[in-house]
Amino acid sequence: MKRVAIVGMGVAGVDVLTHLTEAGFDGRIDCYDERQQFGSGLPYQEDFDIFLLNPRSHAISLNPDRPKEFAEWVKEKGLTLETFMPRRIFGQYMREKLEHLLQNEHVHVHYQHIQHVQVLETGEKERYQLTYQSADQTSVQEVYDAVFLCLGHAPSQDPYHLNDSPYFIQNPYPIRESLQAVPMHQRAAVIGMGLTGVDMVRALMMEREAKEVVMFSRSGQLPIVRGTETVVEPVHLTIEAVQKAVATPGQLTLPLEQVEEWFFKDLAHYQFDLERINQWVGASVEQLRANLNDLDEAGRFQAYVAKLRWVLRALWSHLSRQDQMRFAQKYQRSFIAFSNPMAPPVAEKLLEWMETGRLITTDQVDDIIQLKAQQTGHFMIQYKNKTTTTVDWILNGIGSQTDFSQCQTDQPLVQQLLNDRVVEPNGRMGLMIHDTHSSVLSSRYGELRALKLFGQMVSGTDYQNNSTFVLYRTTQKGVHDALNYLKDKKV
Ligand SMILES: Cc1cc2nc3c(=O)[nH]c(=O)nc-3n(C[C@H](O)[C@H](O)[C@H](O)COP(=O)(O)OP(=O)(O)OC[C@H]3O[C@@H](n4cnc5c(N)ncnc54)[C@H](O)[C@@H]3O)c2cc1C
Repeated sequence: MKRVAIVGMGVAGVDVLTHLTEAGFDGRIDCYDERQQFGSGLPYQEDFDIFLLNPRSHAISLNPDRPKEFAEWVKEKGLTLETFMPRRIFGQYMREKLEHLLQNEHVHVHYQHIQHVQVLETGEKERYQLTYQSADQTSVQEVYDAVFLCLGHAPSQDPYHLNDSPYFIQNPYPIRESLQAVPMHQRAAVIGMGLTGVDMVRALMMEREAKEVVMFSRSGQLPIVRGTETVVEPVHLTIEAVQKAVATPGQLTLPLEQVEEWFFKDLAHYQFDLERINQWVGASVEQLRANLNDLDEAGRFQAYVAKLRWVLRALWSHLSRQDQMRFAQKYQRSFIAFSNPMAPPVAEKLLEWMETGRLITTDQVDDIIQLKAQQTGHFMIQYKNKTTTTVDWILNGIGSQTDFSQCQTDQPLVQQLLNDRVVEPNGRMGLMIHDTHSSVLSSRYGELRALKLFGQMVSGTDYQNNSTFVLYRTTQKGVHDALNYLKDKKV
Protein backbone atom coordinates (compact mmCIF):
# COMPACT_ATOMS: atom_id res chain seq x y z
CA MET A 1 0.00 0.00 0.00
CA LYS A 2 1.32 3.45 -0.94
CA ARG A 3 1.82 5.90 1.93
CA VAL A 4 1.66 9.66 1.62
CA ALA A 5 2.00 12.42 4.21
CA ILE A 6 0.57 15.93 4.36
CA VAL A 7 2.64 18.22 6.56
CA GLY A 8 0.59 21.26 7.60
CA MET A 9 -3.21 21.29 7.64
CA GLY A 10 -4.09 24.86 6.72
CA VAL A 11 -5.90 25.67 3.47
CA ALA A 12 -3.21 23.97 1.34
CA GLY A 13 -3.17 20.80 3.47
CA VAL A 14 -6.97 20.53 3.45
CA ASP A 15 -6.92 21.11 -0.32
CA VAL A 16 -4.37 18.32 -0.82
CA LEU A 17 -6.53 15.94 1.20
CA THR A 18 -9.58 16.98 -0.85
CA HIS A 19 -7.81 16.25 -4.13
CA LEU A 20 -6.39 12.93 -2.91
CA THR A 21 -9.88 11.90 -1.80
CA GLU A 22 -11.57 13.03 -5.01
CA ALA A 23 -8.94 11.21 -7.07
CA GLY A 24 -9.84 7.99 -5.18
CA PHE A 25 -6.34 7.51 -3.76
CA ASP A 26 -6.57 4.26 -1.80
CA GLY A 27 -3.23 4.31 0.00
CA ARG A 28 -2.59 5.55 3.53
CA ILE A 29 -2.72 9.31 4.13
CA ASP A 30 -1.10 10.71 7.29
CA CYS A 31 -1.95 14.33 8.14
CA TYR A 32 0.35 16.27 10.47
CA ASP A 33 -0.16 19.59 12.25
CA GLU A 34 -0.42 20.92 15.77
CA ARG A 35 -3.90 20.66 17.26
CA GLN A 36 -4.56 24.41 17.44
CA GLN A 37 -4.13 25.03 13.72
CA PHE A 38 -5.18 21.61 12.42
CA GLY A 39 -7.81 22.33 9.77
CA SER A 40 -7.62 26.12 9.87
CA GLY A 41 -3.95 27.05 9.47
CA LEU A 42 -2.64 30.41 10.60
CA PRO A 43 -5.10 33.07 9.36
CA TYR A 44 -8.37 31.25 10.12
CA GLN A 45 -7.61 29.90 13.59
CA GLU A 46 -9.70 30.96 16.61
CA ASP A 47 -8.90 34.59 17.32
CA PHE A 48 -10.66 37.95 17.72
CA ASP A 49 -13.80 38.55 15.64
CA ILE A 50 -12.33 41.88 14.51
CA PHE A 51 -10.03 40.03 12.08
CA LEU A 52 -12.00 39.96 8.88
CA LEU A 53 -11.67 38.07 5.62
CA ASN A 54 -10.34 40.30 2.85
CA PRO A 55 -12.72 39.11 0.12
CA ARG A 56 -16.48 39.55 0.44
CA SER A 57 -18.16 36.56 2.01
CA HIS A 58 -19.67 35.24 -1.20
CA ALA A 59 -16.31 35.43 -2.98
CA ILE A 60 -14.23 33.15 -0.76
CA SER A 61 -14.54 29.43 -0.16
CA LEU A 62 -12.45 26.29 -0.29
CA ASN A 63 -13.52 25.62 -3.86
CA PRO A 64 -13.20 28.18 -6.68
CA ASP A 65 -15.90 26.32 -8.63
CA ARG A 66 -18.33 27.02 -5.78
CA PRO A 67 -17.33 30.49 -4.60
CA LYS A 68 -20.56 30.98 -2.61
CA GLU A 69 -20.15 27.76 -0.62
CA PHE A 70 -18.87 29.54 2.49
CA ALA A 71 -21.65 32.17 2.44
CA GLU A 72 -24.24 29.41 2.07
CA TRP A 73 -22.66 27.51 4.96
CA VAL A 74 -22.87 30.64 7.13
CA LYS A 75 -26.60 30.93 6.43
CA GLU A 76 -27.16 27.19 6.99
CA LYS A 77 -25.57 27.57 10.43
CA GLY A 78 -28.03 30.36 11.25
CA LEU A 79 -25.20 32.91 11.56
CA THR A 80 -25.63 36.48 10.34
CA LEU A 81 -23.99 36.84 6.96
CA GLU A 82 -21.90 40.01 7.02
CA THR A 83 -20.27 41.37 3.85
CA PHE A 84 -16.86 40.72 5.43
CA MET A 85 -16.98 37.83 7.89
CA PRO A 86 -14.55 37.14 10.76
CA ARG A 87 -11.71 34.90 9.60
CA ARG A 88 -12.27 32.49 12.50
CA ILE A 89 -15.73 31.66 11.10
CA PHE A 90 -14.06 30.66 7.86
CA GLY A 91 -11.85 28.42 10.00
CA GLN A 92 -14.94 26.73 11.42
CA TYR A 93 -16.26 26.12 7.92
CA MET A 94 -12.86 24.64 6.96
CA ARG A 95 -12.84 22.35 9.97
CA GLU A 96 -16.32 21.08 9.20
CA LYS A 97 -15.29 20.27 5.63
CA LEU A 98 -12.21 18.54 6.98
CA GLU A 99 -14.35 16.40 9.33
CA HIS A 100 -16.01 14.84 6.28
CA LEU A 101 -12.67 14.09 4.67
CA LEU A 102 -11.42 12.46 7.87
CA GLN A 103 -14.24 9.87 7.71
CA ASN A 104 -12.14 8.06 5.11
CA GLU A 105 -10.55 5.08 6.89
CA HIS A 106 -7.29 5.60 5.00
CA VAL A 107 -6.79 9.04 6.55
CA HIS A 108 -4.92 9.33 9.86
CA VAL A 109 -4.60 12.42 12.06
CA HIS A 110 -1.37 13.21 13.92
CA TYR A 111 -1.26 16.26 16.15
CA GLN A 112 2.48 16.44 15.63
CA HIS A 113 5.02 18.92 14.39
CA ILE A 114 7.36 17.38 11.84
CA GLN A 115 10.96 18.12 12.76
CA HIS A 116 12.90 16.53 9.96
CA VAL A 117 12.34 15.38 6.39
CA GLN A 118 15.01 13.13 4.94
CA VAL A 119 15.29 12.00 1.34
CA LEU A 120 15.91 8.25 1.66
CA GLU A 121 16.03 7.35 -2.01
CA THR A 122 15.40 9.11 -5.30
CA GLY A 123 14.37 8.02 -8.79
CA GLU A 124 12.48 4.73 -9.13
CA LYS A 125 12.52 4.18 -5.38
CA GLU A 126 11.90 7.77 -4.26
CA ARG A 127 11.09 7.71 -0.53
CA TYR A 128 11.06 10.11 2.38
CA GLN A 129 11.46 9.73 6.10
CA LEU A 130 9.61 12.09 8.44
CA THR A 131 10.61 12.53 12.07
CA TYR A 132 8.55 13.86 14.97
CA GLN A 133 8.68 13.66 18.73
CA SER A 134 5.89 11.67 20.37
CA ALA A 135 4.20 12.70 23.65
CA ASP A 136 6.74 10.68 25.67
CA GLN A 137 9.59 12.53 23.91
CA THR A 138 10.70 9.56 21.83
CA SER A 139 11.70 10.24 18.29
CA VAL A 140 9.38 8.59 15.77
CA GLN A 141 10.23 7.96 12.13
CA GLU A 142 7.77 7.22 9.35
CA VAL A 143 8.54 6.46 5.70
CA TYR A 144 6.45 7.73 2.76
CA ASP A 145 6.27 7.42 -1.01
CA ALA A 146 5.20 11.04 -1.35
CA VAL A 147 5.16 14.07 0.95
CA PHE A 148 3.11 17.24 0.51
CA LEU A 149 4.74 20.11 2.38
CA CYS A 150 1.97 22.62 3.13
CA LEU A 151 3.97 24.59 5.67
CA GLY A 152 2.31 27.93 5.05
CA HIS A 153 3.87 31.02 6.53
CA ALA A 154 7.49 31.09 7.71
CA PRO A 155 7.81 33.24 10.84
CA SER A 156 8.64 36.85 10.09
CA GLN A 157 12.12 38.07 10.87
CA ASP A 158 13.26 40.42 13.59
CA PRO A 159 15.01 43.29 11.75
CA TYR A 160 15.63 45.39 14.89
CA HIS A 161 16.84 42.46 17.03
CA LEU A 162 14.19 42.98 19.71
CA ASN A 163 13.41 39.35 20.34
CA ASP A 164 14.98 39.25 23.80
CA SER A 165 12.65 41.99 25.06
CA PRO A 166 9.51 40.90 26.99
CA TYR A 167 7.73 43.93 25.50
CA PHE A 168 8.21 42.79 21.92
CA ILE A 169 5.77 40.31 20.36
CA GLN A 170 7.47 38.65 17.43
CA ASN A 171 4.96 36.00 16.32
CA PRO A 172 1.62 37.50 17.21
CA TYR A 173 -0.94 34.93 15.95
CA PRO A 174 -3.25 34.06 17.62
CA ILE A 175 -3.34 37.67 18.79
CA ARG A 176 -6.03 36.92 21.37
CA GLU A 177 -3.32 34.99 23.25
CA SER A 178 -0.29 37.14 22.57
CA LEU A 179 -2.13 40.35 23.45
CA GLN A 180 -2.90 39.10 26.96
CA ALA A 181 0.50 40.40 28.02
CA VAL A 182 -0.29 43.94 26.82
CA PRO A 183 -2.10 46.20 29.34
CA MET A 184 -4.85 48.65 28.35
CA HIS A 185 -4.17 52.24 27.19
CA GLN A 186 -0.52 51.79 26.15
CA ARG A 187 1.55 53.56 23.57
CA ALA A 188 2.64 50.98 21.05
CA ALA A 189 4.36 50.53 17.71
CA VAL A 190 3.67 48.06 14.92
CA ILE A 191 6.43 47.10 12.50
CA GLY A 192 4.98 46.43 9.06
CA MET A 193 2.12 48.04 7.18
CA GLY A 194 0.71 45.08 5.28
CA LEU A 195 -2.37 43.07 6.22
CA THR A 196 -0.64 41.58 9.27
CA GLY A 197 0.37 45.04 10.49
CA VAL A 198 -3.20 46.23 10.01
CA ASP A 199 -4.42 43.29 12.15
CA MET A 200 -2.03 44.36 14.93
CA VAL A 201 -3.23 47.97 14.84
CA ARG A 202 -6.86 46.86 15.02
CA ALA A 203 -6.13 44.57 17.96
CA LEU A 204 -4.28 47.31 19.86
CA MET A 205 -6.94 49.94 19.19
CA MET A 206 -10.08 47.85 19.56
CA GLU A 207 -9.06 45.30 22.18
CA ARG A 208 -6.56 47.32 24.21
CA GLU A 209 -7.77 50.89 23.57
CA ALA A 210 -4.19 51.93 22.89
CA LYS A 211 -3.47 55.59 23.51
CA GLU A 212 -1.36 55.89 20.39
CA VAL A 213 0.07 53.52 17.80
CA VAL A 214 3.01 54.24 15.52
CA MET A 215 2.87 52.01 12.44
CA PHE A 216 5.86 51.93 10.13
CA SER A 217 7.62 50.12 7.33
CA ARG A 218 10.33 50.85 4.81
CA SER A 219 7.85 51.31 1.96
CA GLY A 220 5.38 53.27 4.07
CA GLN A 221 2.56 51.71 2.11
CA LEU A 222 -0.77 50.51 3.47
CA PRO A 223 -2.77 47.87 1.60
CA ILE A 224 -5.09 49.22 -1.08
CA VAL A 225 -8.81 49.25 -0.19
CA ARG A 226 -10.96 46.58 -1.82
CA GLY A 227 -13.15 48.27 -4.40
CA THR A 228 -16.59 47.55 -5.79
CA GLU A 229 -16.91 44.04 -7.09
CA THR A 230 -16.78 43.52 -10.85
CA VAL A 231 -15.06 41.40 -13.49
CA VAL A 232 -12.43 42.80 -15.85
CA GLU A 233 -10.77 40.36 -18.25
CA PRO A 234 -7.34 41.11 -19.73
CA VAL A 235 -7.62 41.66 -23.48
CA HIS A 236 -3.99 41.76 -24.63
CA LEU A 237 -2.01 40.33 -21.71
CA THR A 238 -3.72 36.94 -21.77
CA ILE A 239 -2.73 33.30 -21.28
CA GLU A 240 -3.53 32.70 -24.96
CA ALA A 241 -1.19 35.51 -26.03
CA VAL A 242 1.58 34.05 -23.87
CA GLN A 243 1.03 30.55 -25.23
CA LYS A 244 1.06 31.80 -28.81
CA ALA A 245 4.23 33.81 -28.27
CA VAL A 246 6.20 30.98 -26.70
CA ALA A 247 4.99 28.50 -29.32
CA THR A 248 6.96 30.46 -31.94
CA PRO A 249 9.99 28.32 -32.92
CA GLY A 250 13.17 29.64 -31.37
CA GLN A 251 11.27 31.72 -28.82
CA LEU A 252 12.76 30.27 -25.67
CA THR A 253 11.96 33.24 -23.51
CA LEU A 254 9.36 35.94 -23.49
CA PRO A 255 10.91 39.41 -23.25
CA LEU A 256 9.56 41.54 -20.41
CA GLU A 257 9.12 44.35 -22.95
CA GLN A 258 6.52 42.24 -24.75
CA VAL A 259 4.65 41.65 -21.47
CA GLU A 260 4.78 45.36 -20.72
CA GLU A 261 3.47 46.20 -24.19
CA TRP A 262 0.44 43.95 -23.67
CA PHE A 263 -0.07 45.40 -20.19
CA PHE A 264 -0.08 49.02 -21.39
CA LYS A 265 -2.42 48.11 -24.24
CA ASP A 266 -4.80 46.68 -21.64
CA LEU A 267 -4.54 49.86 -19.55
CA ALA A 268 -5.41 51.91 -22.62
CA HIS A 269 -8.25 49.54 -23.57
CA TYR A 270 -9.90 49.97 -20.16
CA GLN A 271 -8.83 53.63 -19.82
CA PHE A 272 -7.07 52.94 -16.54
CA ASP A 273 -5.31 56.09 -15.40
CA LEU A 274 -2.09 55.09 -13.60
CA GLU A 275 -1.65 58.57 -12.16
CA ARG A 276 -5.07 58.41 -10.52
CA ILE A 277 -4.44 54.83 -9.33
CA ASN A 278 -1.09 55.81 -7.84
CA GLN A 279 -2.84 58.42 -5.70
CA TRP A 280 -4.26 55.58 -3.60
CA VAL A 281 -0.84 54.10 -2.85
CA GLY A 282 0.77 55.18 0.40
CA ALA A 283 -0.34 55.73 3.97
CA SER A 284 -1.46 59.31 4.30
CA VAL A 285 -4.95 60.45 5.23
CA GLU A 286 -5.29 61.94 1.73
CA GLN A 287 -4.29 58.72 -0.01
CA LEU A 288 -6.62 56.59 2.07
CA ARG A 289 -9.47 59.04 1.56
CA ALA A 290 -8.82 59.19 -2.21
CA ASN A 291 -8.93 55.41 -2.34
CA LEU A 292 -12.15 55.19 -0.29
CA ASN A 293 -13.76 57.84 -2.52
CA ASP A 294 -12.87 55.95 -5.68
CA LEU A 295 -14.04 52.42 -4.90
CA ASP A 296 -15.61 51.79 -8.33
CA GLU A 297 -12.35 52.48 -10.15
CA ALA A 298 -10.37 50.60 -7.48
CA GLY A 299 -12.68 47.61 -7.97
CA ARG A 300 -12.20 47.67 -11.74
CA PHE A 301 -8.42 47.77 -11.46
CA GLN A 302 -8.29 45.09 -8.74
CA ALA A 303 -10.56 42.86 -10.83
CA TYR A 304 -8.13 43.24 -13.73
CA VAL A 305 -5.11 42.52 -11.50
CA ALA A 306 -6.88 39.48 -10.04
CA LYS A 307 -7.15 38.00 -13.53
CA LEU A 308 -3.51 38.85 -14.24
CA ARG A 309 -2.44 36.49 -11.46
CA TRP A 310 -3.22 33.53 -13.68
CA VAL A 311 -1.48 35.09 -16.67
CA LEU A 312 1.62 35.72 -14.57
CA ARG A 313 1.71 32.11 -13.47
CA ALA A 314 1.57 31.06 -17.13
CA LEU A 315 4.29 33.43 -18.28
CA TRP A 316 6.70 33.36 -15.35
CA SER A 317 8.71 30.33 -16.48
CA HIS A 318 9.13 31.90 -19.94
CA LEU A 319 10.86 35.03 -18.60
CA SER A 320 14.65 35.02 -18.53
CA ARG A 321 16.13 35.17 -15.04
CA GLN A 322 17.14 38.77 -15.63
CA ASP A 323 13.59 39.68 -16.64
CA GLN A 324 12.20 37.87 -13.60
CA MET A 325 14.41 40.07 -11.42
CA ARG A 326 13.44 43.19 -13.35
CA PHE A 327 9.79 42.31 -13.03
CA ALA A 328 10.19 41.80 -9.30
CA GLN A 329 11.97 45.13 -8.92
CA LYS A 330 9.57 47.16 -11.03
CA TYR A 331 6.21 45.62 -10.33
CA GLN A 332 6.12 43.08 -7.52
CA ARG A 333 5.35 45.47 -4.68
CA SER A 334 2.48 47.13 -6.55
CA PHE A 335 1.23 43.79 -7.79
CA ILE A 336 1.06 42.41 -4.25
CA ALA A 337 -0.54 45.62 -2.97
CA PHE A 338 -3.29 45.47 -5.58
CA SER A 339 -3.83 41.72 -5.23
CA ASN A 340 -4.25 41.75 -1.43
CA PRO A 341 -6.61 44.62 -0.69
CA MET A 342 -8.14 45.32 2.71
CA ALA A 343 -11.87 45.47 3.39
CA PRO A 344 -13.39 49.00 3.29
CA PRO A 345 -14.66 48.87 6.93
CA VAL A 346 -11.06 48.15 7.98
CA ALA A 347 -9.76 51.11 5.96
CA GLU A 348 -12.47 53.42 7.33
CA LYS A 349 -11.37 52.64 10.89
CA LEU A 350 -7.71 53.29 10.03
CA LEU A 351 -8.68 56.62 8.53
CA GLU A 352 -10.65 57.56 11.65
CA TRP A 353 -7.68 56.78 13.92
CA MET A 354 -5.30 58.66 11.64
CA GLU A 355 -7.54 61.71 11.57
CA THR A 356 -7.81 61.79 15.34
CA GLY A 357 -4.05 61.38 15.70
CA ARG A 358 -4.23 58.03 17.49
CA LEU A 359 -2.56 56.26 14.57
CA ILE A 360 0.67 57.57 13.08
CA THR A 361 1.93 55.96 9.88
CA THR A 362 5.47 56.57 8.69
CA ASP A 363 8.34 55.28 6.56
CA GLN A 364 10.83 57.47 8.42
CA VAL A 365 11.98 55.16 11.24
CA ASP A 366 15.74 54.84 11.43
CA ASP A 367 16.22 52.61 14.45
CA ILE A 368 14.66 51.23 17.61
CA ILE A 369 16.55 51.29 20.88
CA GLN A 370 15.60 49.22 23.91
CA LEU A 371 15.48 51.35 27.05
CA LYS A 372 16.56 50.19 30.47
CA ALA A 373 14.59 51.20 33.60
CA GLN A 374 12.95 54.00 31.70
CA GLN A 375 9.68 55.23 33.14
CA THR A 376 7.99 56.51 30.02
CA GLY A 377 8.46 53.53 27.77
CA HIS A 378 10.48 50.45 26.95
CA PHE A 379 11.62 51.45 23.49
CA MET A 380 12.81 54.60 21.84
CA ILE A 381 11.97 55.03 18.15
CA GLN A 382 14.54 57.13 16.32
CA TYR A 383 13.37 58.87 13.17
CA LYS A 384 15.55 59.73 10.20
CA ASN A 385 15.32 63.45 11.08
CA LYS A 386 16.86 62.57 14.50
CA THR A 387 13.66 63.18 16.51
CA THR A 388 12.53 60.40 18.85
CA THR A 389 9.48 59.03 20.55
CA THR A 390 8.99 56.31 23.17
CA VAL A 391 6.56 53.40 23.17
CA ASP A 392 5.69 50.72 25.74
CA TRP A 393 5.14 47.79 23.39
CA ILE A 394 6.15 46.73 19.90
CA LEU A 395 4.26 44.20 17.82
CA ASN A 396 5.82 42.58 14.81
CA GLY A 397 3.43 42.84 11.89
CA ILE A 398 5.96 42.31 9.11
CA GLY A 399 4.26 39.24 7.71
CA SER A 400 5.90 35.99 6.82
CA GLN A 401 9.40 35.51 5.47
CA THR A 402 9.69 34.93 1.74
CA ASP A 403 13.37 35.77 1.21
CA PHE A 404 15.53 32.70 1.91
CA SER A 405 18.54 33.88 -0.09
CA GLN A 406 20.74 33.84 3.02
CA CYS A 407 19.56 30.27 3.82
CA GLN A 408 18.43 31.51 7.25
CA THR A 409 14.98 31.08 8.72
CA ASP A 410 13.25 30.66 12.07
CA GLN A 411 11.14 27.84 10.57
CA PRO A 412 13.16 24.85 11.89
CA LEU A 413 11.99 22.33 9.31
CA VAL A 414 12.74 24.69 6.42
CA GLN A 415 16.14 25.46 7.99
CA GLN A 416 16.92 21.74 8.03
CA LEU A 417 15.79 21.35 4.41
CA LEU A 418 17.96 24.33 3.39
CA ASN A 419 20.97 22.98 5.30
CA ASP A 420 20.59 19.55 3.71
CA ARG A 421 20.26 21.23 0.30
CA VAL A 422 16.91 19.56 -0.26
CA VAL A 423 15.32 22.96 -0.97
CA GLU A 424 16.92 25.94 -2.68
CA PRO A 425 16.27 29.67 -2.48
CA ASN A 426 14.89 31.15 -5.67
CA GLY A 427 16.97 34.33 -5.44
CA ARG A 428 15.16 36.51 -2.92
CA MET A 429 11.77 35.21 -3.98
CA GLY A 430 10.83 32.13 -2.03
CA LEU A 431 11.94 28.56 -2.52
CA MET A 432 12.47 26.87 -5.85
CA ILE A 433 9.77 24.58 -7.18
CA HIS A 434 8.94 23.13 -10.58
CA ASP A 435 6.51 25.52 -12.26
CA THR A 436 3.90 23.00 -13.23
CA HIS A 437 4.52 20.01 -10.93
CA SER A 438 5.03 22.04 -7.71
CA SER A 439 7.87 19.59 -6.90
CA VAL A 440 10.87 20.69 -4.90
CA LEU A 441 13.89 21.49 -7.07
CA SER A 442 17.04 20.54 -5.20
CA SER A 443 20.66 21.26 -6.10
CA ARG A 444 21.54 17.94 -4.47
CA TYR A 445 18.88 15.64 -5.86
CA GLY A 446 17.37 17.43 -8.87
CA GLU A 447 13.60 17.50 -9.18
CA LEU A 448 12.02 15.59 -6.30
CA ARG A 449 8.85 14.60 -8.04
CA ALA A 450 7.14 13.15 -4.96
CA LEU A 451 8.07 16.01 -2.63
CA LYS A 452 5.63 18.85 -3.25
CA LEU A 453 5.76 22.31 -1.73
CA PHE A 454 2.80 24.71 -1.64
CA GLY A 455 1.94 28.08 -0.15
CA GLN A 456 3.55 31.33 0.89
CA MET A 457 7.15 30.12 0.79
CA VAL A 458 7.02 29.39 -2.94
CA SER A 459 5.96 32.92 -3.62
CA GLY A 460 8.81 33.49 -6.06
CA THR A 461 7.17 31.54 -8.83
CA ASP A 462 3.65 32.00 -7.57
CA TYR A 463 3.95 35.70 -6.87
CA GLN A 464 2.35 35.48 -3.45
CA ASN A 465 -0.59 33.86 -5.16
CA ASN A 466 -1.77 32.07 -2.10
CA SER A 467 -5.38 33.05 -1.77
CA THR A 468 -7.68 30.12 -1.06
CA PHE A 469 -8.67 29.83 -4.73
CA VAL A 470 -5.11 29.86 -6.02
CA LEU A 471 -4.05 27.26 -3.48
CA TYR A 472 -6.89 25.01 -4.56
CA ARG A 473 -5.79 25.05 -8.21
CA THR A 474 -2.08 24.72 -7.44
CA THR A 475 -2.55 21.79 -5.09
CA GLN A 476 -4.92 20.13 -7.55
CA LYS A 477 -2.21 20.09 -10.23
CA GLY A 478 0.46 18.99 -7.75
CA VAL A 479 -1.62 16.13 -6.33
CA HIS A 480 -2.53 14.81 -9.78
CA ASP A 481 1.10 14.95 -10.82
CA ALA A 482 2.17 13.07 -7.68
CA LEU A 483 -0.49 10.40 -8.16
CA ASN A 484 0.47 9.83 -11.80
CA TYR A 485 4.08 9.61 -10.76
CA LEU A 486 3.32 7.10 -7.99
CA LYS A 487 1.24 5.00 -10.37
CA ASP A 488 4.21 4.66 -12.73
CA LYS A 489 6.67 3.80 -9.97
CA LYS A 490 7.72 0.16 -9.76
CA VAL A 491 7.75 -0.09 -5.95
C1 LIG B 1 -3.19 37.35 8.46
C2 LIG B 1 -3.57 36.76 7.14
C3 LIG B 1 -4.83 36.95 6.61
C4 LIG B 1 -5.19 36.40 5.40
N1 LIG B 1 -6.44 36.59 4.92
C5 LIG B 1 -6.81 36.03 3.75
C6 LIG B 1 -8.13 36.18 3.24
O1 LIG B 1 -8.95 36.86 3.83
N2 LIG B 1 -8.45 35.57 2.07
C7 LIG B 1 -7.54 34.82 1.37
O2 LIG B 1 -7.87 34.25 0.32
N3 LIG B 1 -6.29 34.66 1.83
C8 LIG B 1 -5.91 35.25 2.99
N4 LIG B 1 -4.63 35.07 3.45
C9 LIG B 1 -3.70 34.30 2.63
C10 LIG B 1 -3.46 32.93 3.24
O3 LIG B 1 -2.09 32.78 3.16
C11 LIG B 1 -4.17 31.78 2.52
O4 LIG B 1 -5.54 32.05 2.37
C12 LIG B 1 -4.05 30.46 3.29
O5 LIG B 1 -4.51 30.56 4.61
C13 LIG B 1 -2.67 29.89 3.32
O6 LIG B 1 -2.79 28.55 3.71
P1 LIG B 1 -1.55 27.60 3.90
O7 LIG B 1 -2.09 26.24 4.14
O8 LIG B 1 -0.61 27.75 2.77
O9 LIG B 1 -0.78 28.17 5.16
P2 LIG B 1 -1.14 28.22 6.72
O10 LIG B 1 -2.50 28.70 6.93
O11 LIG B 1 -0.03 28.99 7.35
O12 LIG B 1 -1.05 26.72 7.20
C14 LIG B 1 0.18 26.03 7.30
C15 LIG B 1 0.08 25.02 8.41
O13 LIG B 1 1.27 24.25 8.42
C16 LIG B 1 1.57 23.94 9.75
N5 LIG B 1 2.99 23.57 9.84
C17 LIG B 1 4.06 24.34 9.55
N6 LIG B 1 5.19 23.66 9.78
C18 LIG B 1 4.82 22.42 10.18
C19 LIG B 1 5.55 21.26 10.58
N7 LIG B 1 6.90 21.25 10.57
N8 LIG B 1 4.87 20.16 10.96
C20 LIG B 1 3.51 20.16 10.97
N9 LIG B 1 2.77 21.24 10.61
C21 LIG B 1 3.43 22.35 10.22
C22 LIG B 1 1.20 25.19 10.52
O14 LIG B 1 0.98 24.90 11.89
C23 LIG B 1 -0.06 25.65 9.80
O15 LIG B 1 -1.22 25.18 10.40
C24 LIG B 1 -4.24 35.62 4.67
C25 LIG B 1 -2.97 35.43 5.20
C26 LIG B 1 -2.64 35.98 6.42
C27 LIG B 1 -1.27 35.75 6.98
